[in-house]
Amino acid sequence: MTVLLLDDERFGLHDTGPHHPERAARLEAVRVGLSEHGLGDGLVRVEPRPARDEELELVHPQRYVRSIESFCDAGGGHLDADTVAVPASAAVARLAAGAGLSAVDALAEGDAAAAFVTARPPGHHATATRAMGFCLFNNAAVTAAALAARGERVLVVDVDAHHGNGTQDIFYERDDVAYVSWHQEPLYPGTGSKEQWGAGAGTGWTLNVPLPPGATGEHYRRSLEELVAPFAERHGSTWLVLSAGFDGHRADPITDLGLTSGDYADITADLVQLVAPGRVVVFLEGGYDLRAIADSSASTVAALLGDRLHPEAPTSGGPGAEQLEEVAALRHQIDR
Ligand SMILES: [Zn+2]
Repeated sequence: MTVLLLDDERFGLHDTGPHHPERAARLEAVRVGLSEHGLGDGLVRVEPRPARDEELELVHPQRYVRSIESFCDAGGGHLDADTVAVPASAAVARLAAGAGLSAVDALAEGDAAAAFVTARPPGHHATATRAMGFCLFNNAAVTAAALAARGERVLVVDVDAHHGNGTQDIFYERDDVAYVSWHQEPLYPGTGSKEQWGAGAGTGWTLNVPLPPGATGEHYRRSLEELVAPFAERHGSTWLVLSAGFDGHRADPITDLGLTSGDYADITADLVQLVAPGRVVVFLEGGYDLRAIADSSASTVAALLGDRLHPEAPTSGGPGAEQLEEVAALRHQIDR
């Protein structure tokens, strides 16, 4: 079995400065992790291409794309309190958004099981018209929208510790792209309550599973089996787009969840079962502890390869059971 790897030195050109958590060293940590855990042999490198205007515009209005480009052309700066851009950032963000599209094309042409896109800036906080939370263009959403435009039914699963408000918002009223998120509550950006379950044609096709600080992998695995798997089956999902943020790791400096790299292995292994092989694209989102990124990206890629790598043991117990029961009771009402 092989897995495609989409990585590019140019992702380092989005220079967020010496003190920003979302920094180029994160990608170096992914490379170190894959190499240290001996995963190079199973990976096929695919060169990413920039997203074209019409592909970005499946998600972002042209005027928004142009506004990001002119902001960067004018020298960049702060787009909001924590989202920065330099002159190169617009082109790098376009490459990050295109990397998922390159992955889909390469998966269609070959027999790889999945693709791992290690790109930055990340994307899941970017709404159609607003850069925020370190994100400029919504990489996962651009890929999901491109697949949906071809008639696929896409399941976007977001394991980042933060709620992917941008992705949820973009597909909130659609039924062809369903959105599932596990995230810490309370935490930035404050969206993602269990009562946000979609609207219009998208009613029921958003599934938020907010978890308290300290929640462990056991709660993810249980809700994956009891809530997410039946949800995907009802949706008839044909592709999985996974927003893999590794800031749910217990070592992460800006969040408080309790996951380990072993948990990421098990969650990924269970998630890929929801669709056919060759229809899985995984995007790096957040994750700010370099050792945790190295081990968690390696364990995720190993799971995509069909292997089980546990640099740290999976976790269980701890808070979260009560919150899961509340989500299950609510979904029992709205999913019938
Ligand atoms: Zn995050």
